[in-house]
Amino acid sequence: MTSTPPKDFQAAGVVIEGLRKSYGPIEVLKGIDLEVKPGQVVCLIGPSGSGKSTLLRCVNLLEQPNGGAIDVGGFDVTDPDVDVDKMRRHVGMVFQQFNLFPHLTVLENCTVAQLKVLKRSKAEADQVAQRNLEKVGLGKFASRYPAQLSGGQQQRVAIARALSMDPSLMLFDEPTSALDPETVGEVLSIMRNLARDGMTMLVVTHEMAFARDVADRVVFMDGGVVVEEGTSEEVIGNPQQPRTQDFLKRVL
Ligand code: ADP
Ligand code: MG
Repeated sequence: MTSTPPKDFQAAGVVIEGLRKSYGPIEVLKGIDLEVKPGQVVCLIGPSGSGKSTLLRCVNLLEQPNGGAIDVGGFDVTDPDVDVDKMRRHVGMVFQQFNLFPHLTVLENCTVAQLKVLKRSKAEADQVAQRNLEKVGLGKFASRYPAQLSGGQQQRVAIARALSMDPSLMLFDEPTSALDPETVGEVLSIMRNLARDGMTMLVVTHEMAFARDVADRVVFMDGGVVVEEGTSEEVIGNPQQPRTQDFLKRVL
């Protein structure tokens, strides 16, 4: 693996091999193998505490892995000499809590990293932000503040903000879990559009209908290991492992 991203970083895939992560004496990820091919959507499902968020956070080095390798589009994330800032520019992340800046407008939320990290001009950053706000159906909300928006709208801003950095890979960590039920659908619909447009996506979700319809692969984790992996028909429609069957009985 090399630490320089190839030219076609736009279509980045992810290859995770033997990923291990411990907090003190507790091993939370016990050797995870997982692949997201360029343009694919992989949904990661599993009970609370199984290590899903930790895995996602290792991919963009919000957590430092203790072992194994992670390659994002030919970029070796686990190389000790990796340029973390450079790598993170290619990886967008959307969290359960939207983490918008409350004192900035919707547009400014979507331009601040473009200005600071990508050193874009204000005119270009505004244009990119506006385009992405339109993509998530919030073109008319640019001058509002986050507190003036519903949870679903705020999460759509968070997605537009991530997209404004032109990521090659999007990580979603339970993006609809903190939302009122009536606004979940609007966020899932944006994610469906992104998937249709060919974005590479790794999505932690409890939305089984979304996983069933959109995921190219579904990975079921429990206790820090991948218990079962396959197409959504296989894993959700016809799970083979008792732990997967028990989990699905509880969430479906
Ligand atoms: P999930 O997202 O599947 O619910 P997490 O990845 O959040 O699971 O957590 C997996 C396990 O790691 C849990 O037992 C959790 O308590 C533990 N854990 C997560 N983050 C930390 C941390 N920063 N320090 C110590 N333990 C942690
Ligand atoms: Mg989690």
